[in-house]
Amino acid sequence: MISFAGGLPAPELFDVAGMRTAYDRVLAENPRQALQYSTTEGDPELRAAVADRLTARGLPTGADDLLVTTGSQQALTLLATALLEPGAVVLVEDPCYLAALQTFAFAGARVVPVPTDDQGLVPEALEEIAARENPTLLYVVPTFQNPTGRTLPAERRTAVAEAAARHGFWIVEDDPYGELRYEGEPVPWIAAAPAAADRTVLLGSFSKVMAPGLRLGHLRAPAGLRRSCVIAKQAADLHTSTIDQAAAARYLRDSDLDAHVAVIRAAYRERRDALLEGLPAVLPEGSRWNRPEGGMFVWATLPEGHDATALLRTAVGHEVAYVPGAPFFCGEPDPAAMRLSFTTHSPDEIGEGLRRLAKSFV
Ligand code: PMP
Repeated sequence: MISFAGGLPAPELFDVAGMRTAYDRVLAENPRQALQYSTTEGDPELRAAVADRLTARGLPTGADDLLVTTGSQQALTLLATALLEPGAVVLVEDPCYLAALQTFAFAGARVVPVPTDDQGLVPEALEEIAARENPTLLYVVPTFQNPTGRTLPAERRTAVAEAAARHGFWIVEDDPYGELRYEGEPVPWIAAAPAAADRTVLLGSFSKVMAPGLRLGHLRAPAGLRRSCVIAKQAADLHTSTIDQAAAARYLRDSDLDAHVAVIRAAYRERRDALLEGLPAVLPEGSRWNRPEGGMFVWATLPEGHDATALLRTAVGHEVAYVPGAPFFCGEPDPAAMRLSFTTHSPDEIGEGLRRLAKSFV
């Protein structure tokens, strides 16, 4: 099976030797502390290192502005616990990251879709919906979004921040993919926009730049909300694994994460290009797809009348897979949409996967 389905990082690119050294050093030098309970807020050295990285990327941050989370997925749960009463309105991009939709649904929220176009959230639509719905928060993945790979332009980010200030809702800015940029210039975080600095929560993750099995993420939030999240986390898991945090901090001290991310970027850029080069000969005439500047996903839409969910069965018969787009929608689903992930196969395998996909249209 060649799979364009999973949203997994490429395991052959994990820095296994570097991680092993980091764990060895932690266990050799400070084993009793590394194996002990620790604070809910997270390892101070790890938080300081993350704060420095955020600051270097244009968002002044101190270690105390951060809470370490068990993956950024946990940050979503903590925010739901801290902010959402049953019936509270959560605005999301349509389509949206599936596990976020689930988290908000479990919290009893009413999830309201905001229309998007090729550039992501449409600010005029957000303005109108926010005025009508009195939302508690907006959840947005502005850079290389899952599932669409889209990036929200700077002027729309400012508009989103201004809408939040005007209507008094929180912005949850989820950014697990921002460092995986293959071309173009970084776009400033919404969290850096003055209009909404006091009502934006920025989520980050080590999953895509180190390894998802570490389950390490972080949440940067204004003090009051951060304290509520700390209390929610005490109830959820006391703290994120002490030894995993210590090893990540040690890795950041001894290894060059930026150099490692450059290796990942170079490999993923090649894989993205292989997918984009092959698609025109494979998808039926009239299909559309985007060219994401980074991240892990290409979003394709088949011509009217095609059903990507029904087609998947045929594709799997030819030993190739993708994710149909429909489940990612919270409003009216587009049955012709599909998400193609390009990270886990070599360019040659991607070429073979596309030849198999082409057979599905015969
Ligand atoms: N947010 C988005 C948009 C994601 O795509 C993912 C994982 N694919 C997550 C959060 C969760 O990541 P983590 O491993 O940090 O929990």
